[in-house]
Amino acid sequence: MNGIRIGRLFGIKVAIHPSWFVILGLFTFSLATGFFPRAYSAWSPAEAWIVAAVATLLLFASVLAHELGHSLVARAQGIPVTNITLFLLGGVSTMEKEATSPGREALMAGVGPLVSLVIGLASWAAANFVRAPLQVQAVLLYLGLANVTLAVFNLLPALPMDGGRVLSALLWWRSHDRVQATRGAAAVGRVVGYLFIALGVLQVLGGSPFGGVWLGLIGWVIIQGSRAGAAQSVMRRDLADATASRLMTKVAGWLRPFVTLSSAAQQGFRDFESRCLAVEAEEEGQVFDGLMCARDLAFEPRPKWAVRRVRDAMVPARDIPVVAPDKPALDVLRLMQTKRADRVAVISKGRLLGFVDATSVDRYLRMREADRQRLESRLKAA
Ligand SMILES: [Zn+2]
Repeated sequence: MNGIRIGRLFGIKVAIHPSWFVILGLFTFSLATGFFPRAYSAWSPAEAWIVAAVATLLLFASVLAHELGHSLVARAQGIPVTNITLFLLGGVSTMEKEATSPGREALMAGVGPLVSLVIGLASWAAANFVRAPLQVQAVLLYLGLANVTLAVFNLLPALPMDGGRVLSALLWWRSHDRVQATRGAAAVGRVVGYLFIALGVLQVLGGSPFGGVWLGLIGWVIIQGSRAGAAQSVMRRDLADATASRLMTKVAGWLRPFVTLSSAAQQGFRDFESRCLAVEAEEEGQVFDGLMCARDLAFEPRPKWAVRRVRDAMVPARDIPVVAPDKPALDVLRLMQTKRADRVAVISKGRLLGFVDATSVDRYLRMREADRQRLESRLKAA
């Protein structure tokens, strides 16, 4: 997830997704017009708004602390963490690897809610036992309530959430099969997600549309997250033993740099039936100079095809990351992500062998799935 960078904490980039501002506004609004005026009726509206804004910002600092808990434990386990992004529903840490054992995974997932719980209880204790102005007490009381709620909510056994990851670690520990465990936790997550949606519908019918829509939205995000989590764990397993050369689509043919786009469309792409063709360097024969894909062609306005040349529409070689054929597949994907490249060239001893893009990864994963199903049906038959 991308966002606006606001700084660095412990060497980890902290960013804010645009959706975060929506929730910041909503929370401040509901605190300033509902929660605080109800509890402290003597406050002026300005007072309520200021206290509400401070409380909301501190709540998000607590969410950041929760996320830092995950990140620092991950780093202690040797997992690099590149950034933390705050978004609509809280925070998310981008980690470059997965935990290597169920115990480590459970620890990494469990520490977040623990941080929230500690902040919550400490705030609540301070509100009750430390003498402070009423406004400060109000903020502390709210932080206590909100952080404990956050801890409990995150411990729901639904996969994208920490509780789901703890559940998945438990299943992994019992079955020794990580993918199976993730699928199990994802199934539980979907049930929780549908329960949220059902509760949301009941709330809307009961006359509280805002709360109902909010619950429904959370349910939907949980269901999507569970699906994505299960798919990702299958993908990681299937890619774990693959290399760039297994993933890649072989170069089917070459285009000359100065032919027009219409003749590239008529001869190149139709004859070779390939999504992407290599473009050779001028006058040097099959020396890799760029990659021209059907999607690059589609991007060009049709009337210009007769005059524009391949060289103008291709992605030049200097903008395409290069990997060796034996590069591990997961590293190739990571490279594409960090360089924001939609295609990677596989080159060995100066010779272009093929390219990797989303479609070739997808095709490889589908082939693995088909292999697995064939094997399963053979095992059933036997
Ligand atoms: Zn968490």
